[in-house]
Amino acid sequence: MKLWKSRLHPHTFSLVGGEPTIHPELTEFVSLTRRNWPAAQLRLVTNGFFLHRHPALPVALQGDPNACIYLSIHHDAPEYNDKLRPNLELLRSWVRDYGIRAQIYNSFKNWTRRYHGSGHAMEPFEDGRPRQSWENCPSRYCPQLFEGKIWKCAPLAYLKMQDDRYRLSDSWKPYLSYQPLDPGCSDAQLADFFNREEETFCAMCPAKRMRFKLPMPLR
Ligand code: SF4
Repeated sequence: MKLWKSRLHPHTFSLVGGEPTIHPELTEFVSLTRRNWPAAQLRLVTNGFFLHRHPALPVALQGDPNACIYLSIHHDAPEYNDKLRPNLELLRSWVRDYGIRAQIYNSFKNWTRRYHGSGHAMEPFEDGRPRQSWENCPSRYCPQLFEGKIWKCAPLAYLKMQDDRYRLSDSWKPYLSYQPLDPGCSDAQLADFFNREEETFCAMCPAKRMRFKLPMPLR
C-alpha cells in the first residue's frame, strides 16, 4: 500500500482472500488500509466463518461510514447455513452495538467459471475470443494489489499459487508469463495499465459467462 498510496486513488479498496479472516492481524490491515486511502470505500469481503477470531474488528470499523463488511454466503445447503448462523448473529450484533455497516449476499448464485476442470486437471478455455471473455468477466474492474505489484485481475495474480500447488499443464505457460505493474513504473505506464481492456491473457477465460454450482464446501 505504501508503495502506491500517492499514485493511486481507488474509489473502492477491498480486503479479500482466500479468506481474510484467517489472517491473525486482519484488524490491523483494516486500519492500515484506512490510513493509506482515507477516502476510499473500504470493503472487507469474508465468508464469515472466523469473524469471532477478531473481536477488535467492530471497534476499528466503528464510526467509519465508508467501511463495510461484505459477508458472502457460498452455498445454500441447510448444513452450511446452520454452521454459519452463530457468526451471522455475531455480525448482526456488531451492526446493532457498534453501528458498523454490513451486507450479506448470496454469492453462490453468481459463481462463474474461469477455467475447465479443477486442481491438477484445470485447463484454460482458449475459445479464441478474448474481447468477449473480458466483456463477460466479473473481474474486469478488479485489479489486485499483491506482493507490492498491481495485477490485472485475481485469476492472473494467483495463478502462480495454483501452479505451485498443482503443477499445472504446459497450456498455462503463456498465462504464467504475465508481468504485473511494478511500483517503479512511469506515469504513462500506469495510465496505460488502467486504460487497457482485453489482453491476450484474457483468452484463458470463457467467452461466454458460464455459471456453476460450487460443491458443498464443508464436506
Ligand atoms: S484474464 Fe481477462 S477475462 Fe480473465 S479474469 Fe482476468 S480480466 Fe477477466
